[in-house]
Amino acid sequence: MQQDINASDKKSDSGNVENKFTASELANILIDAKIKLPRLVSHYAKEMDIEYENVFIKAQKTRWGSCSDRGNINLNCLLTQVPPYVRRYVIVHELAHRKEMNHSERFWKIVADEMPDYQKSVRWLKKHGDSIIDRL
Ligand SMILES: [Zn+2]
Repeated sequence: MQQDINASDKKSDSGNVENKFTASELANILIDAKIKLPRLVSHYAKEMDIEYENVFIKAQKTRWGSCSDRGNINLNCLLTQVPPYVRRYVIVHELAHRKEMNHSERFWKIVADEMPDYQKSVRWLKKHGDSIIDRL
């Protein structure tokens, strides 16, 4: 079972090829993300007093992050391309799934305890998330 922050599943038909990341841009984003994101996960996990197994970073069109029931945190490398508070929200969200594998009230309370203004990030992802994912 996985709990995810999915990207919108509306079909991307923008066809804006000029806006796509080039292979070398994407390679650099991945390298950067594999250095930065696991550090941030470690930092927020300590703040939240939550344990996890591993962090996996991928370039994927389908989701921003997920948490497996084995305790692995999966993050989209494009989180390096969003504002810091949005990046933090996705990590906090996935870490919160280590305590609640659902989106119950208790789950959202864990997120809100760490990040009271998390809804700002939810709104940002709804508004801008697809335009970044579509660059893959
Ligand atoms: Zn979730």
